[in-house]
Amino acid sequence: MYDVIVIGSGPGGYVAAIRAAQLGLKTAIIEKYSTLGGTCLNVGCIPSKALLDSSEHYHNAAHTFKTHGINLSNLKVDLKQMIARKDDVVKQNVDGIQFLMKKNKIDVHHGLGSFVDATTVKVSKEDGKSEEIKGKNIIIATGSKPASLPFIKLDKDRIITSTEALKMKEIPKHLIVIGGGVIGMELGSVYGRMGSKVSVVEYMDSLIPSMDKTMGKELQKSLKKLGFEFFLKHKVTAVESKGKEVTVKAENGKGETIEIKGDYVLVSIGRKPYTDGLNAEAAGVKLNDRGQVEVNEHLQTSASNIYAIGDVVKGAMLAHKAEEEGVFVAEVIAGQKPHINYNLIPGVVYTWPEVASVGFTEEQLKEKGVKYKTGKFPFMASGRARASMDTDGLVKVLADSETDEILGVHMIGPRTADMIAEAVVAMEYRASAEDISRMSHAHPTYTEAFKEACLAATENRALHI
Ligand SMILES: Cc1cc2nc3c(=O)[nH]c(=O)nc-3n(C[C@H](O)[C@H](O)[C@H](O)COP(=O)(O)OP(=O)(O)OC[C@H]3O[C@@H](n4cnc5c(N)ncnc54)[C@H](O)[C@@H]3O)c2cc1C
Repeated sequence: MYDVIVIGSGPGGYVAAIRAAQLGLKTAIIEKYSTLGGTCLNVGCIPSKALLDSSEHYHNAAHTFKTHGINLSNLKVDLKQMIARKDDVVKQNVDGIQFLMKKNKIDVHHGLGSFVDATTVKVSKEDGKSEEIKGKNIIIATGSKPASLPFIKLDKDRIITSTEALKMKEIPKHLIVIGGGVIGMELGSVYGRMGSKVSVVEYMDSLIPSMDKTMGKELQKSLKKLGFEFFLKHKVTAVESKGKEVTVKAENGKGETIEIKGDYVLVSIGRKPYTDGLNAEAAGVKLNDRGQVEVNEHLQTSASNIYAIGDVVKGAMLAHKAEEEGVFVAEVIAGQKPHINYNLIPGVVYTWPEVASVGFTEEQLKEKGVKYKTGKFPFMASGRARASMDTDGLVKVLADSETDEILGVHMIGPRTADMIAEAVVAMEYRASAEDISRMSHAHPTYTEAFKEACLAATENRALHI
């Protein structure tokens, strides 16, 4: 009898298992694939960032090195090597998780986990054999899969999801991206930087629509420079593939239908919770009408000894959100009283410039009727950004008009994915814009732009603009 069985080894599951083991609980983890790490490490966060880094190097070599005084000849992409390096990065990471399981004395069971009852899980292995294991507590961390539209037939050859886009055999001539969200913009950037024409069809009126509107607008400007074309407020009605050609039809809201032809279509309209084969009902675990496992504020399901975390439950589909929930549930099971501040889970888009955000958007503050003030600082005015030729973008700080407390920080620019951590710390400690304005930021760094935006929000007293 285990104290804890975790089903799924993504960032939610493996972190929950480690924390449970740290707390002295006898722990097992079940993973249906042969490698650990889930979507994030195998076909998500890590491989996409590896290709984003490689393609950004190429793009800089082709477009900015000359200005830096570095001349190259015969520059070309070796896609096979680029994908091989990405595979190696993935391997290092998934092997690392294997090591962590061993180090923490967590039993790893490979196979599909399905409930027999609320304390028993059957593990069906690839060779047809199966075993049953028992646990006092069970954590469902089965994650998500790419979503599609009912009329789209994903052939995974020309009409692809993010998983296939991470292992292309050629650089598309014309990649059509359905969905202007995070994954579409990141993977569109990978191939756009290497010469693909990229057309984005998005139903909403802006890119990355869940983020502050300013971010979507600025990102669109930067991606336009990369050669992207955009069809916003367009509803895709048909996707067809014939030989090497794909056709996407979309309605533009005035009843007109446009037709875009390319050689690959990336369907990136979001992800859906994954519970196939889990047999949740045998344990009395309820799903909601969106297919998510229903949980209360303790992430406990309708069966009191079973918890669920990560992409398979409500909330942002992000690796670090899943990790926080993994730690939270392990601590709840151990009798502790942990807390997660969901408002302070940052969101990041790893395009270039990067987009990063935490707290409320301007649109949300307006909707809530909160009186706020805004401070902005463009990277164009940053000495560090000029030195590195990364002047696109800005930092936007939203602070309470009366108390000056920072309510939201939205950044688009160089290395904002890393910079946003300062905003998270500030907001976790309920800092005011003036607090940040009075703290020394090393010069020259991109982080000065955050301080300047806070100065701008305090009394409109940014120094360098
Ligand atoms: C292309 C791409 C890029 C991304 N980039 C980022 C990023 O940069 N930052 C970020 O925060 N997020 C990113 N994400 C999202 C991130 O990958 C997910 O939010 C995260 O992986 C969710 O973690 P999880 O533990 O809930 O589930 P998952 O990582 O999906 O893991 C679930 C695991 O459970 C296993 N499983 C499922 N059912 C069973 C079963 N019945 N028995 C046994 N095992 C089972 C699956 O095989 C899988 O390994 C990206 C996603 C994609 C697709």
